[in-house]
Amino acid sequence: MASDKKRICNKCKCELEEMDTQFTYLDKKFRHKVPRCPQCGQVFISEELAKGKMAQLEKTLEEK
Ligand SMILES: [Zn+2]
Repeated sequence: MASDKKRICNKCKCELEEMDTQFTYLDKKFRHKVPRCPQCGQVFISEELAKGKMAQLEKTLEEK
């Protein structure tokens, strides 16, 4: 895991900042810290996050 790797916004060429961002998935809301561009608001969601968090959420739903 390269968690210390800096992400750069493709549009603004500025460094993304880790921000607490709200997502909606399967009618559920959850918050997660994701790299986000302070200028244009572009959120970078890594494949690991998408797979990991979504899979986790789906599992949570199944358990209920
Ligand atoms: Zn940007």
